Amino acid sequence: MHEDLAVDSQKDIIVQVLKEKGLRVTPQRFAVYANLLSRQDHPTVDQLLHDLNQEFPVSSQATIYTSLQALQTAGLVREVLLEPGVTRYDANVDRHHHFRCRCCGEIEDISWTTFEPLKIDNVREGLHAEGYEVTIYGVCDRCQPSA
Ligand SMILES: [Zn+2]
Ligand SMILES: [Zn+2]
Repeated sequence: MHEDLAVDSQKDIIVQVLKEKGLRVTPQRFAVYANLLSRQDHPTVDQLLHDLNQEFPVSSQATIYTSLQALQTAGLVREVLLEPGVTRYDANVDRHHHFRCRCCGEIEDISWTTFEPLKIDNVREGLHAEGYEVTIYGVCDRCQPSA
């Protein structure tokens, strides 16, 4: 996405994006956003905490949560709710669908153009449809018994 910026490293790009969104660049925000951008597995706060503590041992669940809230308000990160009571985070804020493996719980992004568009205006009169997302349930490659 941000190829147009005249900066030469991933770190500079992240700092630039945070500033563009009016966010003060704190070490926590930087670490949380950089980590989310580097992965596609839609981690929970606990998984983020575990991974960030390897490199950034002062992180608590509360500081990570606060950073996530700021990133979310700025539109850089979104919540993904595919399981009851489990909030996952995604730095891919472009429109996309998800695939969820019912065996390992892995969640993978599916490109928005994979399916024919849904006619969401077909909902009953009185409902004003604004958007949709598809979740495909199934079994991922790793969980299928090899033939
Ligand atoms: Zn799986
Ligand atoms: Zn996603």
